[in-house]
Amino acid sequence: MVLQDRHHAGNTRMSLVNTLAIVLVLAGFVFLVLSLRTVRRAMALAPAVFQLQWRILVALLLFFCLGYLFFDFILFTGIGFPLELVTGLVFAGGAIFVFIVINICHRSLDWFRQTDRKLRILNETLEKRVEQRTRAMERSTQFLKTVLDSLQDSIAIINVDDFSIDNVNASFLEEFGLTEDEVIGRPCFAVTHRRQAPCTPPDDECPMSHTLESGEPAMCEHRHRSESGGHHYVEIHTVPVRNREGRIRQVVHISRNITKRKQDELRIRHMAYYDTLTGLPNRTYYKKLLSRSLEHARRHNRIMATMIIDLDSFKRINDTLGHAVGDSLLQSVAKRLRFALRSSDCVARFRSDLGNTISRLGGDEFIILLNEMARVQDAAMVADRLLNELAAPFFLEGNEVVVTASIGIAVFPADGDDADTLFKNADLAMYHAKSLGKNKYQYYTESMNESARERLTVENDLRRALARNELVLHFQPQVSLDTLEIIGLEALIRWQHPQRGLVPPLDFIPIAEQSELIHLIGQWVLRTACRQIREIHATGYPRLRVAVNLSNRQFSRDDLVEHITSTLATTGLDGRFLEIELTESAVMQDPQKAVCVLQQLRELGIRIAVDDFGTGCSSFEWLKILPLDCLKVDRNFITGITRRREDAKILEAILAMAESLGLEVIAEGVETTDQLALLRRLYCRGVQGFLFSRPLAAADILEFLQRHQGGFTPGAAEP
Ligand code: C2E
Ligand code: MG
Ligand code: MG
Repeated sequence: MVLQDRHHAGNTRMSLVNTLAIVLVLAGFVFLVLSLRTVRRAMALAPAVFQLQWRILVALLLFFCLGYLFFDFILFTGIGFPLELVTGLVFAGGAIFVFIVINICHRSLDWFRQTDRKLRILNETLEKRVEQRTRAMERSTQFLKTVLDSLQDSIAIINVDDFSIDNVNASFLEEFGLTEDEVIGRPCFAVTHRRQAPCTPPDDECPMSHTLESGEPAMCEHRHRSESGGHHYVEIHTVPVRNREGRIRQVVHISRNITKRKQDELRIRHMAYYDTLTGLPNRTYYKKLLSRSLEHARRHNRIMATMIIDLDSFKRINDTLGHAVGDSLLQSVAKRLRFALRSSDCVARFRSDLGNTISRLGGDEFIILLNEMARVQDAAMVADRLLNELAAPFFLEGNEVVVTASIGIAVFPADGDDADTLFKNADLAMYHAKSLGKNKYQYYTESMNESARERLTVENDLRRALARNELVLHFQPQVSLDTLEIIGLEALIRWQHPQRGLVPPLDFIPIAEQSELIHLIGQWVLRTACRQIREIHATGYPRLRVAVNLSNRQFSRDDLVEHITSTLATTGLDGRFLEIELTESAVMQDPQKAVCVLQQLRELGIRIAVDDFGTGCSSFEWLKILPLDCLKVDRNFITGITRRREDAKILEAILAMAESLGLEVIAEGVETTDQLALLRRLYCRGVQGFLFSRPLAAADILEFLQRHQGGFTPGAAEP
């Protein structure tokens, strides 16, 4: 209707309105085109379920707009068109539009409701999950805290930006006596320096800085002086913690108290390097000290000396007074030597950074390194002082003990320029001092080495001799002057040397006695003597006994009785046919022990004879105590009896004493008939000597026995 009114307005006015309308229609069209982009974006955003509706809605809107354009076109052009149809179309389109909009609203509401439900479920699930995760995290945090708190190491996590403490464990708080509030967030230096005393190495050498510089884990040990005056040791580990970019954000600082471990290490070190009994450096440490001394002497062109000190007869003291006294003697000796060495510092004209040191090599052997020497003679002055210091008696557990020592000195560089040579030469010198009568010191000389070399050669040869069966026994008859019958045979060893011929025992037994070799030889002698006398018994002389010589060293063996018993058992010899010859000195080493050992031997039926009687200087008191059977008067007296009245008198006294003690006597080394006659007159009952027979080889002794089966005829003895 309005359009129809406008159509009938004036022409001028109409063209203006028309122009404006066309402009407006064009502007509307432009806006419509522009809105297409927005429409497309809105459609893309629409949920999938509404996509179709949206499309139809947009299509309808466009349809309406195009409808308007078409309508306007009809208006402007004045083309006749049925308006009822247009109204009908607009109404039907509007209705569809309203239907679609209502439908979209309805479905949107439904969709929102569903989405809301889904979101709520999702939210609940998420909440549950968060709760589970939170609980799991709490559990693991608690677990970590329990673990960290149960550790004895104190742990702190330090922020590297401001070096404040982010976290600590219980041990940390306990170590510093602080609460968490007093620690967390505070600068770590302020906390740690509050308690710790100065330490070694200084803090600037800590790994706390090394880790930051290198970015690597680091470790160091610190020694802190504790308030009580002692020390405690701490081992510090630092481990960097990086963020995702690899930048160090924190440093885990672990401090472990290693005082006990350190103390154990020190104790082990002490045990490894020090002698537990005396507290002196031991052999291992001595070797280190010696190499240091030698290096020092070489570098500064100095002399130095090695002094080996060996106590004389320590074994006797140990055996007679017991190991407890022996131990305290060694402790007291160590103290005195240390004191003497300190006071001998005044002897030194030259002071060395190393000082003079004393070590215990083991047993009763000590060694001194004299680093403070200006002249070779200084060592003698020190040795004198040491011997003097030892001279005064020791009072140990109610016993007065007197002990002496033998000292061997080897001087660097004259007597050796390496550790082994110096030691070996000092040792040689010490043995030389002992052989000179003990309680002496002796400088090493070249000749000692020669005799030692000789000794070593003989020792080695002897070992070979044993292995190659080069040792033989000769037998010398012992004759009864009452019956002129052979009552026994003394077994005397010889060495059938492939080059040197028959070597007499005095050429090798003393050398063997200086080592364990004497035991091997002694065992061989005993075994062979027992076996051979059994063979002699079997040839018709069943009552002959054999006398076997025992060296002092053999006699002091703890397993002596055991060994003799087993030899008798293995050879099948009755103990009654065995005589053991000992020297006075063997018995006097330890008279109490000797009584016990001899008693046990007597119980086996074995006879005991004292060899070379009269040469020892001991008192005769012990003759009453010891279970003896026979005294073998030394050849030196017998040789002199026909020439020197005194010797005859001594022999007479010995015979009288032996008679009163119920002991038999055998005169050794009877060479002449005059001697024999005198012995008869003095009522000596037993004799042994070249006059009757030289020692004979086993084969010859059988023939000898056969020849003298009926006994010797008086006055007719074998030359
Ligand atoms: P000894 O036990 O006193 O033995 C006696 C020594 O005097 C023997 O010397 C013997 O040959 C010698 N002799 C015996 N009658 C006379 C004599 O009328 N005139 C002279 N001039 N000498 C006589 P031998 O065999 O050289 O033995 C020397 C020492 O060697 C023995 O002295 C003994 O101490 C030791 N000995 C010998 N055999 C052994 C052995 O198997 N073991 C041990 N440990 N020592 C032994
Ligand atoms: Mg003998
Ligand atoms: Mg003798």
